[in-house]
Amino acid sequence: MTARRGRDRKAEILRPPPGRARFAAGDAPRVAVAGGGIAGLAAATLLAERGARVTLHEREESLGGRLAGWRTRLSDGSSVTMSRGFHAFFRQYYNLRGLLRRTDPGLDRLRPLPDYPLRHSGGLTDSFARVPRTPPFSALGFVALSPTFGWRDLAGMDPRAALPLLDVRVPDVYARFDDMSATAFLERVRFPEAAHHLAFEVFSRSFFADPRRLSAAELLLMFHIYFLGSAEGLLFDVPDEPFPQALWEPLGDYLQRLGADIRTGAPVRGVHPDDTGGVQVRTDDTLDRYDAAVLALDPGALRGVVAASADLGTAAWRDDIAATTTAPPFLVSRLWLDRPVRADRPGFLGTSGYEGLDNISVLNRYEGEAARWAARNGGSVVELHAYAVAPGSTPETMQNRLIDSLRRVYPETREARIVDARHEWRADCPFFPVGSHARRPPVATPHPKVTLAGDAIRCDLPVALMERAATTGFLAAGRLLADWGVRGQTLWTVPRAGRSAALRALAGIGNG
Ligand SMILES: Cc1cc2nc3c(=O)[nH]c(=O)nc-3n(C[C@H](O)[C@H](O)[C@H](O)COP(=O)(O)OP(=O)(O)OC[C@H]3O[C@@H](n4cnc5c(N)ncnc54)[C@H](O)[C@@H]3O)c2cc1C
Repeated sequence: MTARRGRDRKAEILRPPPGRARFAAGDAPRVAVAGGGIAGLAAATLLAERGARVTLHEREESLGGRLAGWRTRLSDGSSVTMSRGFHAFFRQYYNLRGLLRRTDPGLDRLRPLPDYPLRHSGGLTDSFARVPRTPPFSALGFVALSPTFGWRDLAGMDPRAALPLLDVRVPDVYARFDDMSATAFLERVRFPEAAHHLAFEVFSRSFFADPRRLSAAELLLMFHIYFLGSAEGLLFDVPDEPFPQALWEPLGDYLQRLGADIRTGAPVRGVHPDDTGGVQVRTDDTLDRYDAAVLALDPGALRGVVAASADLGTAAWRDDIAATTTAPPFLVSRLWLDRPVRADRPGFLGTSGYEGLDNISVLNRYEGEAARWAARNGGSVVELHAYAVAPGSTPETMQNRLIDSLRRVYPETREARIVDARHEWRADCPFFPVGSHARRPPVATPHPKVTLAGDAIRCDLPVALMERAATTGFLAAGRLLADWGVRGQTLWTVPRAGRSAALRALAGIGNG
């Protein structure tokens, strides 16, 4: 009997192919994992647990990938951990949570944030705290409680066009909706104008994408995972200390206890098949032979490594990798302020209509290190995110614009002195444009001993973002293990189709 992973009774369990529990001493293969983000950590963990001899190569100095952290000294002399900050660990991230349970069985290092409020510059605020979590009551409750999305709006929607929302299946949803943009879909269903920010801010912009270019299939998938297809609801947890301390240092220690060799500051430059069926992995100063490799890289890095590995895979596969794209740059600004924000400000607030500002988090509400800094200084630590920054704005203009927007949303910050600030500009998130799914690379590659993992990798399960990274990481390791007759990881997923037979039938009529 497998312990339940969440509250959703309809969550599905996917068992791996049968196999040995682990490699026998003496027959353990050597496996290289390139990339120490969530995907690479998931793959390395499963492989090391089964007894493989794992070498994890990470380009940066620390693990965690897009959730890595690093030390920085502020102008007041204090040493703090900087990162790209706020990430929502949703309850339906079953496989990611399974990874974190390796070092934190009760997930005590995650703490819930009580609500997911969304505020529009027009003045309306939506909340998910009081909305029931089980569909269809989640949708009905949301309509009943929402100031932006009411019964009249629901009645105004085109029911036939909206029916596909009730029965999202992967990969069918791509066959049907990947050639349409997220915006076109919302227009087609007559999703009320005033509520577009709900769909965009919660779902589409978290893909770091302009909804006019984002595939409608990804938007439908988001609705399914977070709202209409899962009873876990739109509630989430956050780590109670910075990512390195709460998550990656314990996981790195766990991997080392399992015998994994973790090499940070060691980018992989190329992966070359050899004539024994394995690969040679090239770094700046090593060329080592492995029986297999997992490439768990962000899309730009994957394109670079594959381009530099001329003999890996087939021409068609290499073209598909080269055709993947990266989302526009995003900005994370963290401000250390000399005074608190108002006591009723939530830990996280989604925002819309504020000149590119997508959310505000008050770190000292939930993160121990920030809370200690705020308590020592009588101040606060506030973080601002802007995804899919429009081309043309200079970094400085955008940074100032975010701070101006903060002052509009939380007027008490107008008087605050910025003790110090850090601005992180990056562009390493995958982009899912209209029509791109068919060519998106899956976990398997033409080389039987090389697999791919990461949030850009195609996965025929309803998972996204961090959960797609963790799930593909386990799948990439599991595929190699299956080849060696060793058992992979039991996975969990939100239901793979609409929840109720009646609604599925209705959606079927809509398709007819
Ligand atoms: C600001 C921000 C907010 C986000 N918020 C959320 C959220 O709330 N919820 C959510 O689910 N997701 C969120 N995401 C997305 C989430 O961060 C990603 O989905 C996830 O971290 C992807 O993990 P990954 O392992 O696939 O890739 P990455 O974390 O990018 O890992 C790839 C790793 O490969 C390494 N690498 C690159 N080149 C090489 C090389 N040549 N050799 C060796 N290593 C190399 C990189 O340094 C990196 O460590 C957010 C992302 C950002 C940036």
